[in-house]
Amino acid sequence: MHIDTERYRIRPGEAVRLAERATDDTQGYTEAEHEEAAAALLEALTEESDVLQERLYAESKRSLLVVFQAMDAGGKDSTIRKVFSGLNPQGVRVWNFKAPTPTELAHDFLWRVHRRVPGDGYIGVFNRSHYEDVLVVRVHGLASEETIERRYDHINAFERLLHDEGTRIVKVLLHVSKDFQLERFRNRLAKPAKHWKFNPADLKERDRWDDYRRAFEIALERTSTEHAPWYVIPAEERWFRDVVVATILRDTLRDMDPQYPEPTFDPASYPPESLR
Ligand code: AMP
Ligand code: MG
Repeated sequence: MHIDTERYRIRPGEAVRLAERATDDTQGYTEAEHEEAAAALLEALTEESDVLQERLYAESKRSLLVVFQAMDAGGKDSTIRKVFSGLNPQGVRVWNFKAPTPTELAHDFLWRVHRRVPGDGYIGVFNRSHYEDVLVVRVHGLASEETIERRYDHINAFERLLHDEGTRIVKVLLHVSKDFQLERFRNRLAKPAKHWKFNPADLKERDRWDDYRRAFEIALERTSTEHAPWYVIPAEERWFRDVVVATILRDTLRDMDPQYPEPTFDPASYPPESLR
């Protein structure tokens, strides 16, 4: 299997029409014929990313931030679980952004985000992010139009700052259809062990589907940059979704090419028999 990820990247300034982007693309592969190959590929990708993550940690000069956004039931939790399970948990920092607390609301919208970005050597994973402040906030009018307008620029400046200071950024929208979400909600309601995942309030958000889609389009158009690109990943075929995201992770780490530091001592001056 060879996965092309470039087709999912949003070019800076590109107009985004989510309705025109497939939610179930598999690049011609089928689950019946390629499920095993995909599982093997996922394992190989994860193993390579694990080695690269260790080098990133050893180098300790840069970090990687992977941002996940999606509609409710879009698969953020399960993607993060599948793609990052094979990595050393010590090197990965996952953070889940919930509705802001009063203290968080009393600060600028990036305050709570900045303190969760990964430090040198780490991979940070955001399950939701500062993008909520131009998504749910836009859909529900939780801030004024002018405030939201300015936030795209603040986001770009913030991500530019992170980039300049050594944090590589990739952003992933797990793209699913309204029908798919309905199926997921029904599935959650049908299984007692999934009830905790269902929130009746999600149905209210579902009613605003088109507003969310437009909010996503604006956000992608205004914040997909060379240094912090957005990828719109078809996320309905989960076996395929996972290998696409794992490929982006592996390719990004490969491109970063972290290096083990030069030892600060001469290993040759410590022959095995000299240690006791
Ligand atoms: P969940 O991810 O299912 O636990 O839900 C978290 C909820 O918090 C979602 O409904 C988000 O839209 C909401 N949320 C996250 N960040 C913000 C924010 N900055 N402003 C308002 N709501 C938010
Ligand atoms: Mg939810």
